[in-house]
Amino acid sequence: MKNKRRLNSSSVGLLMTVLCFMPSFAYKKVLVTGGAGFLGSHLCKKLLDMPDEFEVIALDNLYTGRLGNITPLFENERFSFIEHDVIDPIDIEVDYIFNLACPASPPHYQKDPLFTTKTCVFGAINMLELAKKYNAPILQASTSEVYGDPEVHPQVETYRGLVNPIGIRSCYDEGKRCAESIFFDYHRMHNVPIKVVRIFNTYGPNMDPKDGRVISNFIMQALKNESITVYGTGLQTRSFCYVDDLINGFIAMMFKTDDDFTGPINLGNPREYNLMQLAKCILDLTNSSSEVVRMALPQDDPKVRCPDISLAKECLGWSPKVLLKDGITQTIEYFKHYI
Ligand code: NAD
Ligand code: UDP
Repeated sequence: MKNKRRLNSSSVGLLMTVLCFMPSFAYKKVLVTGGAGFLGSHLCKKLLDMPDEFEVIALDNLYTGRLGNITPLFENERFSFIEHDVIDPIDIEVDYIFNLACPASPPHYQKDPLFTTKTCVFGAINMLELAKKYNAPILQASTSEVYGDPEVHPQVETYRGLVNPIGIRSCYDEGKRCAESIFFDYHRMHNVPIKVVRIFNTYGPNMDPKDGRVISNFIMQALKNESITVYGTGLQTRSFCYVDDLINGFIAMMFKTDDDFTGPINLGNPREYNLMQLAKCILDLTNSSSEVVRMALPQDDPKVRCPDISLAKECLGWSPKVLLKDGITQTIEYFKHYI
């Protein structure tokens, strides 16, 4: 791959010193943490394609992200990559920050729960310090997991959630809740312009086929005619948003002209499916002969999840457009390269 604009964090200080003595760039600089991951790579591409001609810096420690996701972006002179862990501070002069760095799949965020918590909490503080220093608007990729196993359905932003603070999911759920709290304190104490989005299950190309989330698992299993692993009864529900729709929501939120709008705001597809319906959809679209097998339900697995997106409709004029069968078809085409 071309890596002429690939830096590690120790090179960044030197680069900053050099840049101080150069005429300033015309382009606005956008930092995307977690930029080599599933959502981050789509966001970087979208930003590079926008008429504003942003300079886009992807920052990632490659914990779950893959350089392959961003390889095509190096064709664009306005794109660069920094290998860095958000747990450690960094100083880069930027105009906007999207903070996406964090493993999102339960098997990955549970593998090293202390790392997950540190990523959520120290990552938030380090990126907010940067936002404060350069007065840069900062968007936080929060999650529907802040609602836990919800008693209010669909979930509205005012619902405070039902989260187990000591379970196997709490490193992520409580880490993201703590990050939201830190975001709002930086906003109240230091006037940092924050944008908090609560993302509901999102899927699409560039997901890691071994990521462990339900859509990647079911599609890979169906394409290989292996058993489809349904955890529990399969009657638990999720609401699946196609990645292009979600990224449009990120852009609408970040570049909304009303600077005072902080969120939190739900971004997700309000169409709800249970996992048996999802398995059937994927089996039909892949023409697979796989059979469904039941496996143990993981601890604290939420029973239902569906966003109320009234606020996103009203404040951003945003709603998802892509139907599940169309998004799944695109995703199947992507995963076929891994068979
Ligand atoms: P992903 O695992 O594909 O991407 C996360 C990226 O962050 C990876 O590239 C990973 O290497 C990087 N990363 C992790 N820890 C890091 C650290 N300490 N320092 C630097 N980089 C680090 O997951 P995704 O689906 O793209 O999720 C992106 C963000 O969106 C995450 O913050 C996640 O919590 C949030 N989110 C995603 C979904 C979803 O359905 N995809 C739902 C809710 C929230
Ligand atoms: N799930 C499943 N089979 C799998 C992977 C996940 O039945 O192979 C279930 C999981 O228990 C949960 C739902 O699918 O009920 C969504 O899981 P995912 O890991 O995608 O994300 P979550 O929404 O739980 O964070």
